[in-house]
Amino acid sequence: MTDLPIQAPAHQAIYRRWRAQTFAQVVGQEAVVETLRNAVRTERVAHAILFVGPRGTGKTSLARILAKAINCTNLQDGDPCDTCPSCVAIREGRAMDLLEIDAASNRGIDAIRDLRERINYAPTDLRRKVYILDEAHQITKDAWNALLKSLEEPPDFVVFMFASTHPQEFPPAILSRLQRFDVRRLTTDEIEGKLRRILEGDGRTATPEAIHLIARLAAGGMRDAESMLDQLLSSSSDKLDDARVRDLLGLADAETVGAFVDALVASDARSGMRLLDGLEERGRDLRGFLDQVIELLRAAIIGAPPAPGMAGAGPMPHSITELAAAARRLASIDPSRAGVGGLRLQLELALFPDPSLAPRLAATAAPAPTALPRREPAAPVAPAPPVAPAPPVAEAYPAAPAEAAPAARSKPRPVVRPADDATMVQVPAPAADPPSSVAPAPATGDLAVLRDRWPEIVARISLHPPTKPLIVACRPISVEDGIVTLGFPEDKAFLRQVAERRRTVLEENVSAVLGRSVAVRCVATNIDVVPDLPSDAEAAWVLAEARRIFETDEGNPAEVG
Ligand SMILES: [Zn+2]
Repeated sequence: MTDLPIQAPAHQAIYRRWRAQTFAQVVGQEAVVETLRNAVRTERVAHAILFVGPRGTGKTSLARILAKAINCTNLQDGDPCDTCPSCVAIREGRAMDLLEIDAASNRGIDAIRDLRERINYAPTDLRRKVYILDEAHQITKDAWNALLKSLEEPPDFVVFMFASTHPQEFPPAILSRLQRFDVRRLTTDEIEGKLRRILEGDGRTATPEAIHLIARLAAGGMRDAESMLDQLLSSSSDKLDDARVRDLLGLADAETVGAFVDALVASDARSGMRLLDGLEERGRDLRGFLDQVIELLRAAIIGAPPAPGMAGAGPMPHSITELAAAARRLASIDPSRAGVGGLRLQLELALFPDPSLAPRLAATAAPAPTALPRREPAAPVAPAPPVAPAPPVAEAYPAAPAEAAPAARSKPRPVVRPADDATMVQVPAPAADPPSSVAPAPATGDLAVLRDRWPEIVARISLHPPTKPLIVACRPISVEDGIVTLGFPEDKAFLRQVAERRRTVLEENVSAVLGRSVAVRCVATNIDVVPDLPSDAEAAWVLAEARRIFETDEGNPAEVG
C-alpha cells in the first residue's frame, strides 16, 4: 500500500498527514504526473517550472515531490523513494537547499531579493537547490526583475518551481521562460476515494452520503475536502453522517430544498415562507440555502421532461417552462445584498409569480424590519443613503403580510411588511457595496483597537456554537472604510466560505463590540498565522471572558444567537 500516511502527531491536520509524498500517491493529475516522471527518468527536468491550477489541488505537493525526485539517490522508475536521506530531509522540511517562498507575504518578497545573492552558492545537503515560489503571481515587479536574470542563466544546480492560481498576472517575459503544467480540479469520485482511504487509515467511519456530500462541496479542491473532514472528525467521535456535514456548513436538508423548489414553481408563498421560518429557527443559513435551491433547480432543469405534464418526471414533476420561470425569479436575487435580512425578503418575493417584479426587487430588497437583528441599543448605526425610490417594496408586495401571518405558527414573528422610510434608513448598508454606504471611514489605529477588542469578539461569537469554529480560526487583518477584513488560513478555506455565508452574525457582533456599524469581509491567507484551535488555557479564558460580558449584559442575552 503506497498510500499510508506518514507517522505524525495525531493532532496534525489531515491534509498535512495525507499529503502525497510520491508521484504514485498523487490523486488524479495523471498527465502531469506522467510527464514529470518521464522528465525525471530521462534527466530532462527544466530549470524553471510553473504549476498552474485552482487552489487546494496539489500544486505545491507536486513541486515538493519533483524536488525529491531530482535529488533522490534511489529513484524508483522516476518516482522518489521517500526513504533516502534527501527524500526524508525534504519531507521533514529540514533540507537547507529546498527553499519555499510564499510570494504573498512581505517576508517572501525579501526572500526573493536575497535569493539573487545566494543563488550561485553550491548546494549543501541536496544535489540540487530548489526554490519553490508559491502564490507566484503576487511577486512584485521589482522582485521579478531581480529574478529574471537568475531565470535566464541559472546555475546548473538550481531549479525554480512556481505555483500560481493566476498565471495571467505573470510578466510575459517570465511566462515564456517557464515550462508550464496545468493541475486540474479533482472529480468528486477522486475526492471520495481519498476521503475513504483517510477514514479507513484513521479508523473512522462515515456514511457514503456524508462522503459524497463533502466531496461535492469541496468543488474539486482536495485540501478543502480534507479540512472539512478534519473539522467534522474532530468535532465528534460518532459515525459521520450527512446530517452532521449539513450542520457544520449550515446547509438545509434535501427535503426542505425540494419543498422550496415546489413552492417556487407553484408560487405557493405561504408554504415557502413557512419553510424559510423553519430554516431560520434551526439556524440554517439562507445564503447556503439559496445555493442549494439553485443547484437543485439546475439539476431539475437538466433532467426535466420537455413539456408540461409528461410522465416519468420523478420526485419533481415540473416542466422546463415552470422550472425556468422559477430560476429566473431566483436569478434576480443578489445574495451579497443580504447584509441584514435582505436575502430573506428577496427569497420571499421570489415566491410570488410576477416576474416583472424581479428587477425592482434586486434594487429594494435589503431592508426588512422583521429581519433586523436584536441590536445593541448603544451601537450607533450609520444612515445609509436611500436605497431606492420610495415605495416600490410595498407595491411589489401586496398580499403578503395578511396571508403570511397565520402561516408562521411557531412564533408571532411578523413576516414581511412593506418597509417604511424610517426603517430603511436605519438599516446598515449591506456588505457588498460598503464604501459608499457604511459608516464613515474610521481614524487610523482602528486595527489596533480591533485587535485589542478581539478576545471580546471571539468570546461573544463563540457562544453561538455554529459560528464558534469560524471565529477561532480567523484573525483580523485590516479595518478600512468601515470594512473589517478577517483572514482565514488557506488550509481552512472552507471555513472562510462558511463565514462568508454567516457574515451577518459576524457583522452584528463585531459592530456591537466596536460600537459602530461595520461590514465584514473574509479572505484566505496562505500563511500559517493562525493556530488550529485555542489551547485549553485560552479556551478557559474565552469562556471566562464570555461570562463576564454576558453576566453584565443580562438584559440582552440573545445578542449572539
Ligand atoms: Zn529518495
